[in-house]
Amino acid sequence: MKILVVNAGSSSLKYQLIDMDGEIELAKGLVERIGIAGSRLKHSAGEKKTEISQEIPDHEAAAQLMLQILQDPEFGVIKSTDEIGAVGHRVLHGGNAFTASVIVNDAAKQAIRDCFPLGPLHNPANLMGIEACEKVMKGTPQVAVFDTAFHQTMPPKAYMYGVPKMYEEKLHVRRYGFHGTSHRYVSRRVCDFLGIKPEGKRIIIAHLGNGSSLSAVKDGKCVDTSMGLTPLEGLLMGTRCGSCDPAVVQFIANNPLKEDGTPLGHPISVDEVLTIMNKKSGLLGISGKSSDCRDIDDLAAKGDENAKLAQEMLIYGIKKYIGAYAAAMGGVDVICFTAGIGENNADLRARVIDGMEFLGGKIDPEKNKTRKEAVISADDSKVTVCVIPTNEEIMIARDTLDLVTTGKVRDN
Ligand code: AMP
Repeated sequence: MKILVVNAGSSSLKYQLIDMDGEIELAKGLVERIGIAGSRLKHSAGEKKTEISQEIPDHEAAAQLMLQILQDPEFGVIKSTDEIGAVGHRVLHGGNAFTASVIVNDAAKQAIRDCFPLGPLHNPANLMGIEACEKVMKGTPQVAVFDTAFHQTMPPKAYMYGVPKMYEEKLHVRRYGFHGTSHRYVSRRVCDFLGIKPEGKRIIIAHLGNGSSLSAVKDGKCVDTSMGLTPLEGLLMGTRCGSCDPAVVQFIANNPLKEDGTPLGHPISVDEVLTIMNKKSGLLGISGKSSDCRDIDDLAAKGDENAKLAQEMLIYGIKKYIGAYAAAMGGVDVICFTAGIGENNADLRARVIDGMEFLGGKIDPEKNKTRKEAVISADDSKVTVCVIPTNEEIMIARDTLDLVTTGKVRDN
């Protein structure tokens, strides 16, 4: 069966068509600037690549264009949309309503709507993507795969915040965690790769990309993760500050600065402070130059002190989470690095594991040169350290296939 994987943002729609016989990617693409001047589609099928610039007023038009290019005589890979067995959608926030992926029906759509306050930027866009595909592919099953679902196994001691309990009971204020599809894929894949069973194993996954999160996975189940009610909590990220004293919000709101560092002269709102914390902080905010780890590395290598500090803060933060999760699980058997930074940045991996001999972790510098699936720890390391490239699309496609063929999701 061919499964279409869709990730809809507020002005974008990313897609990938996968033939589940052999899990082969047939085509992928991105519709950008939906509803904005300069909208375009970028599409590739193997070596063939094309770009179409035209007006794309809404998500339905984007979905229509995606289907058109997938059936194109030159760049397409299917003859008819009937060949698409089902569509799997990435949905950011499932709140505590979803512990696994679901077939989309009216109740599921309402539950996604109910989570709008928890994922105000992403969930409405994700639902737009679902409704657009429903319209242009009438009768084709749609499946929702939630970024939060994998973390729903966390115990209350890990997901509760220490604010009055009624905020969790009435308003669902708690840790949810994100990148769940990636954490789930990597935690399963590493066991297959190492030929071990998840049962009895304590695995720490470091998903390090533009957004970054760690998770602690015991017996195959998530027991803790670093992101929270929103993706802002946890590690220093590309543009997000990660965890800090919540009183910082009030302090910055009362004492805001202009871009040039001089006082703004009047207070700003909490929303405005959160915009600073989400979009102007992290590697960008500390370096003052870039949110991209490659730029930070280049700048640091040339002696830029702020870039060096940003690097050190990120590495120190990852170390602290690894230590905390090892303590929480009573030890650690496997540490996995994944996503853009985790898969590609050997120097950062080495610096994270450096000094972790007390925990049983030691890197082999030669093995660490990899960008592929590999064990990178030394032969005498008690903890197995791995690079496992993530593949959220395949996880979404597998769940979609399972739900439409067997009615339930396999646990791997
Ligand atoms: P992601 O959000 O997973 O796409 O990851 C984005 C981050 O990964 C950025 O900070 C990039 O600098 C980093 N990254 C991506 N590719 C590479 C690469 N080839 N080498 C080093 N860092 C990379």
